[in-house]
Amino acid sequence: MKRILLIEDEPAMQMGLKDNLELEGYQVDVAGDGERGLAKIKANPVDLILLDVMLPKLSGFDVCKSARAAGIATPIVLLTARGEEIDKVLGLELGADDYITKPFGVRELLARIKAILRRSAGIPTKELQLTSIGRLQLDFAAFVARENETEVRLSHKEFEILAFLYQNKNQVVSRYDLLEKVWGYDEQPTTRTVDNFMVRLRQKIETNPNQPKVILTVHGTGYKLVTA
Ligand code: CA
Repeated sequence: MKRILLIEDEPAMQMGLKDNLELEGYQVDVAGDGERGLAKIKANPVDLILLDVMLPKLSGFDVCKSARAAGIATPIVLLTARGEEIDKVLGLELGADDYITKPFGVRELLARIKAILRRSAGIPTKELQLTSIGRLQLDFAAFVARENETEVRLSHKEFEILAFLYQNKNQVVSRYDLLEKVWGYDEQPTTRTVDNFMVRLRQKIETNPNQPKVILTVHGTGYKLVTA
């Protein structure tokens, strides 16, 4: 049974995550502040650490830095707050393996956990269900993207957009379809948001992002993913 240490100070979040992870078959230990978290990390080896950034006593960053300085290589997933872009960059520089932005869905978190545990277990690439799109090889189930052997970081939204385009490959997908299927009704992005995502995706996928050959613009309508 894989063991996860959850370092989180908000009681509702702590209980909710613990319950969900246990339902998935993980053994979960919990710490409510950074100091306790770090002590637990040093005392008992686990398979993965979920680490909130904003914690009493010792921040998630400090916990991450101290754990790495102590030679602990356990994968760490940071739980960051929405919009704190700087946190993600800093966290990864301090040795975290991944981050997930609050509020997140449990399914997304579980997918990330599985992907990281699979990676840290050294299970080879070929066991992933890889789909090639442009320069990237993607595993939609594990949320993993690679270019050659190097992992490329895609956001959850970018994965969702690509998955939707891929399900409708070689067909025109309107911006409104994308808004409805990927963003849902509760969020209020504009068609401009969709276009901005496409610009970023092309930079990761296309050989020449200025002359897209994979994600084509269909004027006045939307986009078309062209793939074999
Ligand atoms: Ca917190």
